[in-house]
Amino acid sequence: MAIHWLAEFLEDLEQKEMANMPLPELEFANALLGIAAKYGKLANNDGKGIWVGYTPAIENDNAEMGVMCKNCYMRESDTTCKIVAQEIELGGLCRLAAIPDGLVTQGDRE
Ligand code: SF4
Repeated sequence: MAIHWLAEFLEDLEQKEMANMPLPELEFANALLGIAAKYGKLANNDGKGIWVGYTPAIENDNAEMGVMCKNCYMRESDTTCKIVAQEIELGGLCRLAAIPDGLVTQGDRE
């Protein structure tokens, strides 16, 4: 019972952290979620005209400062994304990422 409560608490906490984004960025992310819901998850050259540009973890130079799938609003699980069709890695990154404020620890996001 306590474990179940703790799991719910942590999930709620993560959702609140994920909602800590500037409104335009949140709308950008929700627009992508809407596109994926309407047309299916995205992949390079899938005919939908949106280039995903996924970078594997080993090539993601921005992971160290928190810019990676692990911190992305659209991440679904450790290996899946809500909008990108391919299997992802927590340290990977695509060009559609939406990273909430507070999860990028260095550098300039602008
Ligand atoms: S960075 Fe891209 S692939 Fe990774 S979770 Fe975010 S949207 Fe999905």
